[in-house]
Amino acid sequence: MSEHNVYVLPGDGIGAEVMGPAVAVMQAAADQVGCAVNVTQGLVGGVAIDATGSPLPEETLAAAQQADAVLLGGVGGPKWDDLPMDARPERGLLGLRQALGLFANLRPALLFGPLAQASSLKTELVADLDILIIRELTGGIYFGEPRGIEMRDNERVGFNTLVYSEHEIERIARVGFELAQKRNGRLCSVDKANVLDSSQLWREVVSNLADDYPDVELSHMYVDNAGMQLVREPKQFDVIVTGNMFGDILSDVAAMLTGSLGMLPSASLAASGVGLYEPVHGTAPDIAGEDKANPLATILSVAMMYRYSLDQPAAADAIERAVAQVLDAGYRTLDIQGNEAVQSDQLVGTKAMADLVLEHL
Ligand code: NAD
Repeated sequence: MSEHNVYVLPGDGIGAEVMGPAVAVMQAAADQVGCAVNVTQGLVGGVAIDATGSPLPEETLAAAQQADAVLLGGVGGPKWDDLPMDARPERGLLGLRQALGLFANLRPALLFGPLAQASSLKTELVADLDILIIRELTGGIYFGEPRGIEMRDNERVGFNTLVYSEHEIERIARVGFELAQKRNGRLCSVDKANVLDSSQLWREVVSNLADDYPDVELSHMYVDNAGMQLVREPKQFDVIVTGNMFGDILSDVAAMLTGSLGMLPSASLAASGVGLYEPVHGTAPDIAGEDKANPLATILSVAMMYRYSLDQPAAADAIERAVAQVLDAGYRTLDIQGNEAVQSDQLVGTKAMADLVLEHL
C-alpha cells in the first residue's frame, strides 16, 4: 500500500474551520483507493505568532520540507493587522512558498454546472467551464532587482524590474505543456511580446519547446487580449501559462467567472514535486466561527493534492465527483446560493456540506 505524508497547516479564521472537514474527506478518499495518508499538523500565520512569536516557526518549515504535500487553510485576520509588515501572518505563507521553491501556481477555474447562474457572465458562456491557469510564482516583476523609490531630478520615482531568465521560462512552460498533455492538449502562452523585451524572450523560449510536445497545440496571446477573451469566450482556453504579474491578474479574472471564492482551489508546485495546496480565499473574518464558510475550495484543494503531488488520480476523481453530486442534489452554502430559490433544508453550513461530500464518497 502506498503511503503519503501530508502536513496540515489550518492557520486562522475559516482556514482553521474548514480544515477538519477537509482532512476527513482526505482520509475517506484514501480509504476508498487503498492508500495511506499520515497527517501531521503544525502552526502558521496568526496562531503561530500567538504561540511562538513567529508566523513561520522553524519547526513548521522543517516539517513542511519533509512532507510529500502541505495543505494550508489560510492566514491573517484583524487581530494581527497592526503588526509591522515583516511580522504579519502573511509573511508565514510567503516564507513557506519561498523555502519550498514553489515556482508554479496552478489555479483551475472550474464551474460546476448547477452553479453557472452564480457567475457574472451569461450561463451559456460559462456552464461547464474548465480552464487551468498556470502562473509563474517566484520570478518576474514582483521579485526583480533593482527595485525601489528614489529621488531623481527633484522628484520621487518608483521602479521595479521585470526579469525572466531562460531557465525560469523553460521550467514553467514545461509544466504548462505537461499539464496540457493530461487535459485537452491546448496551451496558450500569455505575454506582452509586442512591448516588453522580457516577453520576447518568453515567447521565443516557449516556442522552442513546442517540438518536444507534438501532441500539444501551442498558441500565444498578448495579455490585454487574453483579459478580453477570458470574459468574451472563456471556453476557448484549456491551459494558460504566464508570468507572475499577468497570472496574478488573469487568475482573479478567471476566478470571478466561476462565481464564488468558496469554490476555488489552488496548488503551488516545486521542481521536486512537493506541493502546497490551499483554497484561493482568505480567512473571512466576517463569517469566521459561524459555520457559514464553504469548505469546498479546501476539499477541492485536497483533490488537486491527490492528483499533482501524491499521484492518486482516482482519489482526486472521487472527491470531485462527490462534490459535483452534492451540488447536483441542490445543496448550497450561503455564498453559492446566488439567486436560486434553495429549499431551507438544502441551505447548509460548513460541517453539513463536508458531511454530504463524505456521504457521496
Ligand atoms: P477573504 O477571501 O477572506 O474574504 C472575502 C469575502 O469572501 C468575505 O466576504 C468572505 O466572507 C467571503 N468568503 C471567502 N471565503 C469564503 C468561503 N469559503 N465561504 C463563504 N464565503 C467566503 O478575503 P479578505 O476579506 O480580503 O481577507 C481576510 C483575511 O484573509 C485578511 O487577513 C487577508 O490578509 C487574509 N487572506 C489570506 C489569504 C491566504 O491565506 N492565502 C488569501 C487572501 C486573504
